[in-house]
Amino acid sequence: MTRYRNFTGVSKTAGLAVAVAVAFGLAGPAAAQESSFGGFEPPAGWLPPPLDPTGVQLQTKQLAPGVYALLSTRPPVDNSGFIVGEKGVLVIDAHINGAMARQIQAAVRAVTDKPILYLVNTNYHGDHTFGNYAFPAETKIVAHRETAEAMRHFDREKALLLPLVNGNAAVFDDVRLRLPDVTFEKSLRLDLGGRVVELHHFGPGNTPGDTVVYVPEAKVAWTGNLVLGAGSIPWAIEGNTPAYLETIARMAARLDVETIVGGHILMTPGETLGSYLDYLSGHIKSVQRALGAGKTLEQTLASLPLEESYLPPKDSPLAAVRPLMQGVHLWNVKRTYQELTARERADQQALAQ
Ligand SMILES: [Zn+2]
Repeated sequence: MTRYRNFTGVSKTAGLAVAVAVAFGLAGPAAAQESSFGGFEPPAGWLPPPLDPTGVQLQTKQLAPGVYALLSTRPPVDNSGFIVGEKGVLVIDAHINGAMARQIQAAVRAVTDKPILYLVNTNYHGDHTFGNYAFPAETKIVAHRETAEAMRHFDREKALLLPLVNGNAAVFDDVRLRLPDVTFEKSLRLDLGGRVVELHHFGPGNTPGDTVVYVPEAKVAWTGNLVLGAGSIPWAIEGNTPAYLETIARMAARLDVETIVGGHILMTPGETLGSYLDYLSGHIKSVQRALGAGKTLEQTLASLPLEESYLPPKDSPLAAVRPLMQGVHLWNVKRTYQELTARERADQQALAQ
Protein backbone atom coordinates (compact mmCIF):
# COMPACT_ATOMS: atom_id res chain seq x y z
CA MET A 1 0.00 0.00 0.00
CA THR A 2 3.06 2.24 -0.04
CA ARG A 3 2.07 3.04 -3.60
CA TYR A 4 0.07 5.98 -2.23
CA ARG A 5 3.10 7.74 -0.82
CA ASN A 6 3.62 9.59 -4.06
CA PHE A 7 -0.03 10.41 -4.62
CA THR A 8 -0.16 14.21 -4.81
CA GLY A 9 -1.63 15.71 -1.68
CA VAL A 10 -3.55 18.89 -1.00
CA SER A 11 -0.73 21.42 -0.90
CA LYS A 12 0.54 20.76 -4.41
CA THR A 13 -2.86 20.37 -6.06
CA ALA A 14 -4.21 23.49 -4.32
CA GLY A 15 -1.51 25.45 -6.15
CA LEU A 16 -2.59 23.80 -9.38
CA ALA A 17 -6.20 24.77 -8.78
CA VAL A 18 -5.13 28.40 -8.63
CA ALA A 19 -3.15 27.93 -11.84
CA VAL A 20 -6.24 26.50 -13.52
CA ALA A 21 -8.43 29.33 -12.31
CA VAL A 22 -5.91 31.83 -13.67
CA ALA A 23 -5.67 29.95 -16.96
CA PHE A 24 -9.43 29.99 -17.35
CA GLY A 25 -9.56 33.67 -16.46
CA LEU A 26 -6.90 34.56 -18.99
CA ALA A 27 -8.43 32.42 -21.69
CA GLY A 28 -11.46 34.70 -21.86
CA PRO A 29 -15.02 33.77 -22.78
CA ALA A 30 -14.36 32.90 -26.44
CA ALA A 31 -11.56 30.44 -25.62
CA ALA A 32 -13.56 29.00 -22.72
CA GLN A 33 -16.47 28.29 -25.07
CA GLU A 34 -14.07 26.18 -27.10
CA SER A 35 -13.23 23.96 -24.14
CA SER A 36 -14.90 20.62 -23.43
CA PHE A 37 -16.10 22.27 -20.21
CA GLY A 38 -18.34 24.30 -22.53
CA GLY A 39 -17.35 27.57 -20.88
CA PHE A 40 -17.90 26.11 -17.41
CA GLU A 41 -15.77 27.67 -14.69
CA PRO A 42 -14.68 25.11 -12.09
CA PRO A 43 -15.82 26.01 -8.56
CA ALA A 44 -13.33 27.05 -5.88
CA GLY A 45 -12.16 23.89 -4.14
CA TRP A 46 -12.00 21.75 -7.27
CA LEU A 47 -8.54 20.25 -7.77
CA PRO A 48 -7.25 19.12 -11.17
CA PRO A 49 -6.34 15.41 -10.91
CA PRO A 50 -2.54 15.05 -11.24
CA LEU A 51 -2.03 12.88 -14.37
CA ASP A 52 1.67 13.36 -15.19
CA PRO A 53 2.87 9.76 -15.69
CA THR A 54 6.57 10.50 -15.21
CA GLY A 55 8.04 7.66 -13.14
CA VAL A 56 4.80 5.67 -13.12
CA GLN A 57 4.87 1.91 -13.69
CA LEU A 58 1.87 -0.05 -14.94
CA GLN A 59 1.73 -3.24 -12.91
CA THR A 60 0.22 -6.33 -14.51
CA LYS A 61 -2.43 -8.11 -12.46
CA GLN A 62 -4.08 -11.24 -13.83
CA LEU A 63 -7.82 -11.26 -13.02
CA ALA A 64 -8.81 -14.45 -14.89
CA PRO A 65 -7.22 -16.62 -17.60
CA GLY A 66 -6.22 -14.21 -20.39
CA VAL A 67 -7.61 -11.18 -18.55
CA TYR A 68 -5.15 -8.60 -17.17
CA ALA A 69 -5.42 -5.23 -15.47
CA LEU A 70 -2.56 -2.74 -15.82
CA LEU A 71 -2.59 -0.68 -12.63
CA SER A 72 -0.77 2.60 -12.25
CA THR A 73 1.64 2.76 -9.30
CA ARG A 74 0.55 6.39 -8.71
CA PRO A 75 -3.20 6.90 -8.82
CA PRO A 76 -4.93 8.85 -10.26
CA VAL A 77 -2.53 8.41 -13.22
CA ASP A 78 -4.41 6.22 -15.70
CA ASN A 79 -4.87 2.45 -15.50
CA SER A 80 -5.13 0.24 -18.57
CA GLY A 81 -5.50 -3.46 -19.31
CA PHE A 82 -5.53 -6.19 -21.93
CA ILE A 83 -7.30 -9.39 -22.85
CA VAL A 84 -5.66 -12.30 -24.70
CA GLY A 85 -7.50 -14.75 -26.98
CA GLU A 86 -6.28 -17.48 -29.35
CA LYS A 87 -6.12 -15.07 -32.30
CA GLY A 88 -4.74 -12.00 -30.58
CA VAL A 89 -4.97 -9.27 -27.98
CA LEU A 90 -7.32 -6.38 -27.14
CA VAL A 91 -5.89 -3.43 -25.18
CA ILE A 92 -8.00 -1.02 -23.14
CA ASP A 93 -6.90 2.63 -23.39
CA ALA A 94 -3.68 3.98 -24.91
CA HIS A 95 -2.52 6.29 -22.08
CA ILE A 96 -1.17 9.82 -22.45
CA ASN A 97 1.98 9.54 -24.62
CA GLY A 98 4.21 7.23 -26.63
CA ALA A 99 6.32 6.17 -23.64
CA MET A 100 3.28 4.97 -21.68
CA ALA A 101 1.78 3.31 -24.79
CA ARG A 102 5.07 1.42 -25.23
CA GLN A 103 4.96 0.42 -21.56
CA ILE A 104 1.50 -1.10 -22.19
CA GLN A 105 2.82 -3.02 -25.20
CA ALA A 106 5.82 -4.27 -23.21
CA ALA A 107 3.42 -5.58 -20.55
CA VAL A 108 1.48 -7.42 -23.28
CA ARG A 109 4.72 -8.84 -24.71
CA ALA A 110 5.70 -10.16 -21.27
CA VAL A 111 2.60 -12.39 -21.45
CA THR A 112 2.15 -13.25 -25.15
CA ASP A 113 3.64 -12.70 -28.62
CA LYS A 114 0.19 -12.68 -30.28
CA PRO A 115 -0.68 -9.55 -32.29
CA ILE A 116 -2.54 -6.64 -30.71
CA LEU A 117 -5.68 -6.79 -32.85
CA TYR A 118 -7.69 -4.04 -31.13
CA LEU A 119 -7.14 -0.97 -28.97
CA VAL A 120 -10.28 0.45 -27.35
CA ASN A 121 -10.50 4.12 -26.27
CA THR A 122 -13.01 4.35 -23.39
CA ASN A 123 -13.35 8.13 -23.88
CA TYR A 124 -11.82 10.92 -25.98
CA HIS A 125 -9.61 12.52 -23.31
CA GLY A 126 -5.90 12.74 -24.13
CA ASP A 127 -4.87 10.63 -21.16
CA HIS A 128 -6.83 7.74 -22.73
CA THR A 129 -6.08 8.39 -26.43
CA PHE A 130 -2.78 10.25 -26.97
CA GLY A 131 -0.86 6.93 -26.94
CA ASN A 132 -2.89 5.64 -29.96
CA TYR A 133 -0.19 6.64 -32.47
CA ALA A 134 2.44 4.45 -30.79
CA PHE A 135 0.52 1.19 -31.45
CA PRO A 136 1.25 -0.87 -34.59
CA ALA A 137 -0.46 0.23 -37.81
CA GLU A 138 -2.21 -3.18 -37.96
CA THR A 139 -3.90 -2.59 -34.59
CA LYS A 140 -7.51 -1.51 -35.15
CA ILE A 141 -8.50 1.35 -32.87
CA VAL A 142 -12.10 1.10 -31.71
CA ALA A 143 -14.22 3.81 -30.07
CA HIS A 144 -17.76 5.06 -29.70
CA ARG A 145 -18.82 7.38 -32.53
CA GLU A 146 -18.96 10.44 -30.26
CA THR A 147 -15.54 9.64 -28.80
CA ALA A 148 -14.05 9.48 -32.30
CA GLU A 149 -15.69 12.81 -33.22
CA ALA A 150 -14.48 14.62 -30.08
CA MET A 151 -10.91 13.38 -30.64
CA ARG A 152 -10.66 15.63 -33.71
CA HIS A 153 -10.31 18.64 -31.37
CA PHE A 154 -6.69 17.69 -30.75
CA ASP A 155 -5.21 21.10 -29.86
CA ARG A 156 -8.10 21.93 -27.56
CA GLU A 157 -7.57 18.64 -25.73
CA LYS A 158 -3.85 19.31 -25.31
CA ALA A 159 -4.64 22.74 -23.82
CA LEU A 160 -7.17 21.25 -21.39
CA LEU A 161 -4.81 18.52 -20.29
CA LEU A 162 -1.92 20.90 -19.58
CA PRO A 163 -2.92 21.91 -16.01
CA LEU A 164 -3.43 18.21 -15.20
CA VAL A 165 0.24 17.51 -15.99
CA ASN A 166 1.43 20.47 -13.93
CA GLY A 167 1.87 22.65 -17.03
CA ASN A 168 4.55 20.35 -18.45
CA ALA A 169 3.77 20.17 -22.20
CA ALA A 170 6.79 17.89 -22.70
CA VAL A 171 4.62 15.06 -21.33
CA PHE A 172 2.79 14.85 -24.67
CA ASP A 173 5.17 16.67 -27.04
CA ASP A 174 5.67 13.46 -29.01
CA VAL A 175 2.00 12.82 -29.65
CA ARG A 176 0.45 12.71 -33.14
CA LEU A 177 -3.28 12.43 -33.60
CA ARG A 178 -4.41 8.93 -34.54
CA LEU A 179 -8.15 8.57 -34.88
CA PRO A 180 -10.16 5.35 -34.43
CA ASP A 181 -10.53 2.93 -37.36
CA VAL A 182 -13.81 1.41 -36.15
CA THR A 183 -16.69 3.14 -34.39
CA PHE A 184 -19.87 1.79 -32.83
CA GLU A 185 -23.12 3.19 -31.49
CA LYS A 186 -24.63 0.96 -28.76
CA SER A 187 -22.51 -2.17 -28.44
CA LEU A 188 -19.92 -4.27 -30.23
CA ARG A 189 -18.87 -7.88 -29.68
CA LEU A 190 -15.26 -8.76 -30.47
CA ASP A 191 -14.15 -12.40 -30.64
CA LEU A 192 -10.44 -12.78 -29.84
CA GLY A 193 -10.62 -16.56 -30.41
CA GLY A 194 -12.07 -18.53 -27.52
CA ARG A 195 -12.58 -15.29 -25.61
CA VAL A 196 -15.30 -12.72 -26.24
CA VAL A 197 -15.09 -9.07 -25.29
CA GLU A 198 -18.13 -6.79 -25.28
CA LEU A 199 -18.04 -3.01 -25.73
CA HIS A 200 -21.05 -1.15 -24.37
CA HIS A 201 -22.22 2.44 -24.53
CA PHE A 202 -24.99 2.85 -21.93
CA GLY A 203 -25.34 6.59 -22.46
CA PRO A 204 -23.39 9.72 -21.49
CA GLY A 205 -21.69 10.00 -18.09
CA ASN A 206 -18.29 11.59 -17.66
CA THR A 207 -18.12 12.10 -21.45
CA PRO A 208 -20.74 11.73 -24.24
CA GLY A 209 -19.26 8.47 -25.61
CA ASP A 210 -18.25 6.64 -22.41
CA THR A 211 -17.51 3.01 -23.22
CA VAL A 212 -17.46 -0.02 -20.91
CA VAL A 213 -15.26 -2.97 -21.90
CA TYR A 214 -16.73 -6.16 -20.44
CA VAL A 215 -15.47 -9.75 -20.32
CA PRO A 216 -18.57 -11.87 -19.53
CA GLU A 217 -16.72 -15.06 -18.56
CA ALA A 218 -14.64 -13.14 -15.97
CA LYS A 219 -17.34 -10.60 -14.94
CA VAL A 220 -14.72 -7.86 -15.24
CA ALA A 221 -15.54 -4.37 -16.57
CA TRP A 222 -13.14 -1.61 -17.58
CA THR A 223 -15.05 1.62 -17.12
CA GLY A 224 -12.67 4.45 -18.08
CA ASN A 225 -13.91 7.66 -16.45
CA LEU A 226 -17.52 6.43 -16.10
CA VAL A 227 -16.50 4.73 -12.82
CA LEU A 228 -13.16 6.17 -11.73
CA GLY A 229 -12.27 3.43 -9.24
CA ALA A 230 -12.18 2.66 -5.52
CA GLY A 231 -13.22 5.46 -3.18
CA SER A 232 -14.64 7.60 -6.00
CA ILE A 233 -17.91 9.34 -6.77
CA PRO A 234 -19.14 10.03 -10.32
CA TRP A 235 -17.67 13.13 -11.98
CA ALA A 236 -20.20 14.73 -14.31
CA ILE A 237 -17.42 16.68 -15.98
CA GLU A 238 -19.67 17.87 -18.81
CA GLY A 239 -22.80 18.10 -16.65
CA ASN A 240 -26.19 16.35 -16.92
CA THR A 241 -26.24 14.29 -13.72
CA PRO A 242 -29.76 12.93 -14.53
CA ALA A 243 -28.38 11.32 -17.73
CA TYR A 244 -25.38 9.95 -15.78
CA LEU A 245 -27.82 8.34 -13.32
CA GLU A 246 -29.73 6.65 -16.16
CA THR A 247 -26.47 5.44 -17.73
CA ILE A 248 -25.26 3.79 -14.51
CA ALA A 249 -28.72 2.29 -13.93
CA ARG A 250 -28.64 0.74 -17.43
CA MET A 251 -25.16 -0.67 -16.85
CA ALA A 252 -26.15 -2.13 -13.46
CA ALA A 253 -29.25 -3.75 -14.99
CA ARG A 254 -27.49 -5.21 -18.04
CA LEU A 255 -24.09 -6.42 -16.80
CA ASP A 256 -23.17 -8.85 -14.06
CA VAL A 257 -20.02 -7.13 -12.79
CA GLU A 258 -17.83 -8.51 -10.02
CA THR A 259 -14.71 -6.44 -10.64
CA ILE A 260 -14.38 -2.91 -11.97
CA VAL A 261 -11.07 -1.65 -13.34
CA GLY A 262 -11.66 2.09 -13.27
CA GLY A 263 -9.69 4.50 -15.41
CA HIS A 264 -7.88 6.22 -12.55
CA ILE A 265 -7.95 4.70 -9.08
CA LEU A 266 -7.65 1.20 -7.58
CA MET A 267 -9.90 -1.65 -8.70
CA THR A 268 -13.27 -1.83 -6.97
CA PRO A 269 -16.09 -4.42 -6.65
CA GLY A 270 -19.23 -4.26 -8.83
CA GLU A 271 -21.18 -2.96 -5.81
CA THR A 272 -19.62 0.45 -6.51
CA LEU A 273 -22.35 0.86 -9.14
CA GLY A 274 -24.89 0.91 -6.29
CA SER A 275 -22.92 3.62 -4.53
CA TYR A 276 -22.79 5.66 -7.78
CA LEU A 277 -26.59 5.31 -8.13
CA ASP A 278 -27.16 6.39 -4.50
CA TYR A 279 -24.85 9.36 -4.88
CA LEU A 280 -26.39 10.59 -8.14
CA SER A 281 -30.03 10.27 -7.06
CA GLY A 282 -29.33 11.88 -3.66
CA HIS A 283 -27.28 14.62 -5.30
CA ILE A 284 -30.00 15.59 -7.79
CA LYS A 285 -32.67 15.63 -5.05
CA SER A 286 -30.62 17.77 -2.66
CA VAL A 287 -29.75 20.35 -5.33
CA GLN A 288 -33.48 20.45 -6.29
CA ARG A 289 -34.37 21.06 -2.63
CA ALA A 290 -31.80 23.87 -2.33
CA LEU A 291 -33.23 25.51 -5.46
CA GLY A 292 -36.76 25.10 -4.12
CA ALA A 293 -35.70 26.84 -0.91
CA GLY A 294 -34.41 29.78 -2.96
CA LYS A 295 -30.73 29.24 -2.17
CA THR A 296 -28.09 30.90 -4.34
CA LEU A 297 -25.34 28.83 -5.98
CA GLU A 298 -22.87 29.93 -3.28
CA GLN A 299 -25.31 28.98 -0.50
CA THR A 300 -25.97 25.64 -2.18
CA LEU A 301 -22.25 24.85 -2.54
CA ALA A 302 -21.70 25.76 1.12
CA SER A 303 -24.70 23.78 2.39
CA LEU A 304 -24.07 20.52 0.51
CA PRO A 305 -20.65 19.11 1.43
CA LEU A 306 -19.91 15.58 0.21
CA GLU A 307 -21.34 13.12 2.73
CA GLU A 308 -18.68 11.27 4.71
CA SER A 309 -20.20 7.92 3.69
CA TYR A 310 -19.06 8.49 0.08
CA LEU A 311 -15.46 9.22 1.08
CA PRO A 312 -12.72 6.70 1.82
CA PRO A 313 -11.81 6.76 5.56
CA LYS A 314 -9.16 9.29 6.62
CA ASP A 315 -6.85 6.53 7.85
CA SER A 316 -7.21 4.32 4.76
CA PRO A 317 -4.69 3.91 1.91
CA LEU A 318 -7.22 5.81 -0.24
CA ALA A 319 -7.20 8.88 2.04
CA ALA A 320 -5.39 10.92 -0.64
CA VAL A 321 -8.45 10.54 -2.89
CA ARG A 322 -10.59 12.54 -0.42
CA PRO A 323 -9.70 16.13 -1.47
CA LEU A 324 -10.02 15.19 -5.15
CA MET A 325 -13.50 13.73 -4.62
CA GLN A 326 -14.61 16.66 -2.46
CA GLY A 327 -13.63 18.91 -5.39
CA VAL A 328 -15.42 16.66 -7.89
CA HIS A 329 -18.55 16.88 -5.71
CA LEU A 330 -18.43 20.72 -5.76
CA TRP A 331 -18.08 20.57 -9.55
CA ASN A 332 -21.16 18.31 -9.74
CA VAL A 333 -23.18 20.62 -7.45
CA LYS A 334 -22.37 23.67 -9.58
CA ARG A 335 -23.18 21.86 -12.83
CA THR A 336 -26.48 20.48 -11.54
CA TYR A 337 -27.50 23.80 -9.93
CA GLN A 338 -26.87 25.68 -13.18
CA GLU A 339 -28.70 23.11 -15.29
CA LEU A 340 -31.75 22.88 -13.02
CA THR A 341 -31.91 26.70 -12.89
CA ALA A 342 -31.79 26.91 -16.69
CA ARG A 343 -34.49 24.23 -16.95
CA GLU A 344 -36.70 26.07 -14.46
CA ARG A 345 -36.29 29.32 -16.37
CA ALA A 346 -37.20 27.60 -19.65
CA ASP A 347 -40.32 26.09 -18.02
CA GLN A 348 -41.40 29.50 -16.70
CA GLN A 349 -40.92 31.08 -20.11
CA ALA A 350 -42.98 28.33 -21.72
CA LEU A 351 -45.78 28.92 -19.16
CA ALA A 352 -45.72 32.68 -19.74
CA GLN A 353 -46.32 32.25 -23.46
ZN1 LIG B 1 -9.59 9.70 -17.56
